[in-house]
Amino acid sequence: MTTDFILERGSIMDLGPNVTVLDHPLIQHKISMLRDKNTGTNEFRALVGEIAMLMGYEALRDLPTQEVEVETPIEKCMTSIIAGKKMAVVPILRAGLGMVDGILKLVPTAKVGHIGLYRDPETHEPHEYYCKLPAPIELRTILVVDPMLATGGSASDAIKLIKQHGGRKIKFMCIIAAPEGVKKLTKDHPDVQIYVGHLDRELNKDAYICPGLGDAGDRIFGTK
Ligand code: URA
Repeated sequence: MTTDFILERGSIMDLGPNVTVLDHPLIQHKISMLRDKNTGTNEFRALVGEIAMLMGYEALRDLPTQEVEVETPIEKCMTSIIAGKKMAVVPILRAGLGMVDGILKLVPTAKVGHIGLYRDPETHEPHEYYCKLPAPIELRTILVVDPMLATGGSASDAIKLIKQHGGRKIKFMCIIAAPEGVKKLTKDHPDVQIYVGHLDRELNKDAYICPGLGDAGDRIFGTK
């Protein structure tokens, strides 16, 4: 479902046509469990994978299909399959890794690229340290994943990098977004469809999403 208008710090935020908030009750329920500080690493990791799968189901609803002939036990018929099998999932390291298996459960033939960016602790600016994408990247539907869209800096730079490598059909999917990140991403990449599990209130001074869920990478990998 597309929700075009969402409360942003007491006022209405127009999300525009490229942003879809996937407000399915199953997704919202699992996000609530993620937010709970008492949810342990094992459960957190499993939930991130389940949410990615549920969100991916919606985000990939426009994958191109083609008609093929199949013989059922009754008769021959023409029926749809995913065309071309040219898909790539690109997690932004490291938290994005937690979403990959959920997507691969839906599209096991998808190839996986990786993009590594780190945030400068002072300026919060992203810097690239790794980029490896599956060829032919220009022919693939590319689903860039990161559980948290905070300032939007990393996501925007990751997508810029993918475009520089020839990527064209790009979607971005996150579990929780801050209004600041959505604004930056829609402004920098108006051609990219964005799928959000929940739009939160704001960023704090350390660029954490409020109320958010804390550091997604640390909670997925148990590093804190
Ligand atoms: N990254 C996270 O993991 N959490 C936030 O709140 C913001 C960025």
